[in-house]
Amino acid sequence: MTTAPKLSFDVQQSHAARTPAERERVLAAPGFGQTFTDHMVSIDYTEGQGWHDGRLTAYGPLTLDPATSVFHYAQELFEGLKAYRQENGSIVAFRPYANASRFNISARRMAMPEVPEETFVEALELLVQTDRDWVPSTEGHSLYLRPFMIATQVGLGVNYPSKSYRFMVIGSPAAAYFAGGVKPVSVWLSQDYTRAAPGGTGFAKCGGNYAAAFVAQRQAVENGCDQVVWLDAFEHRYVEEMGGMNLFFVFGDRLVTPDLTGTLLAGITRDSLLTLAADLGLAAEERKISIDEWREACASGELTEVFACGTAAVITPVGSVKGVEGGWTIGDGAPGPVTLRLRDELMGIQYGTRPDPHGWVHKIC
Ligand SMILES: *Cc1c(COP(=O)(O)O)cnc(C)c1O
Repeated sequence: MTTAPKLSFDVQQSHAARTPAERERVLAAPGFGQTFTDHMVSIDYTEGQGWHDGRLTAYGPLTLDPATSVFHYAQELFEGLKAYRQENGSIVAFRPYANASRFNISARRMAMPEVPEETFVEALELLVQTDRDWVPSTEGHSLYLRPFMIATQVGLGVNYPSKSYRFMVIGSPAAAYFAGGVKPVSVWLSQDYTRAAPGGTGFAKCGGNYAAAFVAQRQAVENGCDQVVWLDAFEHRYVEEMGGMNLFFVFGDRLVTPDLTGTLLAGITRDSLLTLAADLGLAAEERKISIDEWREACASGELTEVFACGTAAVITPVGSVKGVEGGWTIGDGAPGPVTLRLRDELMGIQYGTRPDPHGWVHKIC
């Protein structure tokens, strides 16, 4: 963790904040990532000076020179986490320091400056405290927080990373990510495209990974599936991730999840579920799993459930698989008991209806 003098934030309240009635209309059906709260946080970075000009201002458009580096060379990264309104009225974030730490892992890979973890968390807290009325109270809803960083140097020189950056946090009230709640998704095994290769940026949460993924996601939909499953870059045989989520395979009371080889994104939900599995007496293994093993273990009945996990959609069951060589169903295609148990356990901690033995919940206000 970087030790730097504590950054202070200049607070400029919005003059265009929406009325309580307007806000309630949004909160009645927030969707996902469609509407934003009244404020945003920004901090600028200049080489030689470090982070400066922390501020909370009205949410609104940015004015940037067309030659700003981020538009051309995609030096950008982001995070995603949620603030939850708990039963007792407190608003909490789930493991925000884990996001801060991962943000800096991404920053190092993208040759961008690290944000001190305290500053990262203070920026989230400031936005959530200011816009606390935007944190939904409906069960299963939350305020999705999106910290991100862009390269702001103006110029097309491509030999060096930008010398200036902006870190920002915006917030968006969110319902369940996939319409239909815990309805199982169908997945397409991508043979044509690769998400990440060794030495690349697979472990970094950078926008470029997503830009390169849309074509495969579109192909999944063209093949009648909801989501794409990424395979390893060499053999297109070992399972890596599903879209922007990590995958778990349930063999009765044993969980298997692909190991973190550097081409996978190390999900905080994934990490939390490995811990919760141990608490619940489920064995958990991190290892390679091939599409052949997936198919054969489904056929023999050994593999009983598959689910994907991530902050936005929590835990989503996978019901069926399709690839160029055909497809198969997992179990009876319905959400399984281990999937639902882990989902209840995790959401119980996030919403404060269950004890939090690992101290994951961080009170904001
Ligand atoms: C963000 C992300 C995940 C999930 O990470 P969480 O910390 O659990 O939200 C998984 N895979 C990819 C590619 C991601 O970008």
